[in-house]
Amino acid sequence: MLRVEGLYSGYGRIEALHGIDIDVREGEIVALIGANGAGKTTLLMTICGNPRASAGRVTLAGEDITGLPTHLIARRGLAHSPEGRRIFPRMSVLENLRMGASIADPRHFKDDLDRVLGLFPRLGERLDQRGGTLSGGEQQMLAIGRALMSRPRLLLLDEPSLGLAPLVVRQIFEIIATINREQGVTVLLVEQNAFHALSLAHRAHVMVTGRIALSGSGAELLNNPEIRAHYLDGG
Ligand code: ATP
Repeated sequence: MLRVEGLYSGYGRIEALHGIDIDVREGEIVALIGANGAGKTTLLMTICGNPRASAGRVTLAGEDITGLPTHLIARRGLAHSPEGRRIFPRMSVLENLRMGASIADPRHFKDDLDRVLGLFPRLGERLDQRGGTLSGGEQQMLAIGRALMSRPRLLLLDEPSLGLAPLVVRQIFEIIATINREQGVTVLLVEQNAFHALSLAHRAHVMVTGRIALSGSGAELLNNPEIRAHYLDGG
């Protein structure tokens, strides 16, 4: 579904990714874990076309999308729920969801809305409420719901658990599993919460300073003593 080969990227003269190779197969959940500043967010953003890759290649379902503008990449079936959620705080929940649907066929709007509200009934109860007045967990639901309104084949999720209470974190991870299992959406997930991410993911990669340091199945990495020491046991 997604293949990233020899990807380099950064901000001006600062290089943040130094040759990344990963792939995500159809139907998988793949997690990226790693410390702050390792380059996880930059990798998701470079896949979406901003910043642009300085070298390497990104292919989505066999098509080269490297260097395409972000809106054209979205039209190819890739949706991004960014770090910090970035919902539109002054718009209502329904208007936020409409924004997500803007690149989809309008004939599907009602079905897509029903599907998203089925996943997030709480959003259905708050359709007229402004996005900015929702709780943190509800805003995260809205960000994921908005991304799903474009009918993506691949969903990129950046830190969906950030700043949320443990109970809400568990709900969000359950919903990600449902989106993948029942709706067939392939997921590439960036997470600080390594335990939840590795428990959920089929496969995972550990990023260290702009490189992939280790890869394996979620279960393998959960049981890896080095990973446990660095990312799981509070180390
Ligand atoms: P976090 O979980 O904190 O977001 P991360 O693994 O996602 O960490 P990135 O945010 O991708 O890491 O950062 C990778 C590197 O790029 C870091 O050294 C960071 O300081 C740098 N960086 C990130 N954003 C910018 C920016 N807008 N301008 C310049 N440098 C940046």
